[in-house]
Amino acid sequence: MECLAVGGHPVQLRLCLVCGQVGCCDSSPYQHATAHFKETGHAVMRSFEPGESWRWCYVDGSIV
Ligand SMILES: [Zn+2]
Ligand SMILES: [Zn+2]
Repeated sequence: MECLAVGGHPVQLRLCLVCGQVGCCDSSPYQHATAHFKETGHAVMRSFEPGESWRWCYVDGSIV
């Protein structure tokens, strides 16, 4: 995972529902989840945190 590869401290993680890539959220320094959307167009992800099950759509800009 690129987030850990760059040596960042643990952050909130997001799971891409299209390809399964895990990236970090917008409150992390690298914002890999958003970068993944910009690179691939995969717009829907979900929280990868235990106990969280919400989904976020970048295109709609809202919880889906
Ligand atoms: Zn990251
Ligand atoms: Zn993806």
